[in-house]
Amino acid sequence: MLDRASKTFFHLVAQSRTLGKLASRFGMRKPSSFARRFIAGETVPEAIEAARGVQARGMKITLDLLGESVTNLDEADAATRQYVEVIDAIARAGIERNISVKLTQLGLDVDKASAIDNLRKILERAGPAGFFVRIDMESSAYTEVTLEIFETLWRHGYHEFGVVLQAALYRTERDLQLVNGLGARVRLVKGAYQEPKAVAHQKKADVDAAYARLMKTLMTDGRYPAIATHDPVMIGLARQWAREHDLGADRFEFQMLYGVRRDLQAMLVAAGYTVRVYIPFGRQWFPYFMRRLGERPANVMFVIRSILSDRG
Ligand SMILES: Cc1cc2nc3c(=O)[nH]c(=O)nc-3n(C[C@H](O)[C@H](O)[C@H](O)COP(=O)(O)OP(=O)(O)OC[C@H]3O[C@@H](n4cnc5c(N)ncnc54)[C@H](O)[C@@H]3O)c2cc1C
Repeated sequence: MLDRASKTFFHLVAQSRTLGKLASRFGMRKPSSFARRFIAGETVPEAIEAARGVQARGMKITLDLLGESVTNLDEADAATRQYVEVIDAIARAGIERNISVKLTQLGLDVDKASAIDNLRKILERAGPAGFFVRIDMESSAYTEVTLEIFETLWRHGYHEFGVVLQAALYRTERDLQLVNGLGARVRLVKGAYQEPKAVAHQKKADVDAAYARLMKTLMTDGRYPAIATHDPVMIGLARQWAREHDLGADRFEFQMLYGVRRDLQAMLVAAGYTVRVYIPFGRQWFPYFMRRLGERPANVMFVIRSILSDRG
């Protein structure tokens, strides 16, 4: 119940433009500013530096240029151009070639055809340069259209390309069959968005049970799945399932978010597993940051402490 209330509260705050502007002014100001715990910085060089740090600790990376819910095609075009520049910068920097993108950042709310066109531009630049591109999954309003776009482009031959499925949604069991049937790579997450009872489990225990079920199917039937969670119980179950079914550590990877459970990330690397860290960066970090606070209200104390120690 508290889980749900806190998620709702932080989702509401995330939509506030005034708070967003205020936070943007202060949250990234100094190396010690509060948002830097979860966001690598506002610029491409900062993201590349963070990626180098993560790689130096024996982990893999995916970079996410933050931005979502753009409201006109000019913004969507600008985001697409920025992504193409990010691809070129990553290639020049010699870090791992892996990015995550959101379809509403490419204009999905404004015009579906334009969003597809923009995604294609990114895939066209990324593919020949040896990148893997993952479409992040947004709220349930976008699940159907995201999977439809993914499947269409997959059938057009874009195969260094993966999608995300959310255990919280009832429909995910079916969607997993579809994506496994294509032979595409899935990142399995619990789901970061506040969803209605009609489409999603509401209790944490039910989401966890669904995650465990889907994870087992994915690990057995899927292609190089990503088990994206910080939950030690789910991670323990994945390791046990792999042992019991003779799935070597090269058959799947764990994924975690930048700044979350760094201890667990390091422990898994030391145990011989592949860990990929999702590194978000960019000026539009406020909604992403609020989702992280909503997942763990204890993070609010961390923010308050860092604001107090960061004054002036
Ligand atoms: C690589 C990656 C990519 C993701 N991509 C998407 C996506 O495309 N779409 C989507 O809807 N969601 C995405 N998510 C978010 C995901 O849906 C969850 O909201 C998030 O991972 C928290 O759930 P959990 O599985 O870690 O488990 P939880 O049960 O929420 O948490 C388990 C434990 O992890 C730690 N923890 C979890 N979150 C935090 C936090 N914010 N701060 C500090 N500690 C924390 C705590 O110790 C907590 O007890 C992604 C997550 C990861 C790791």
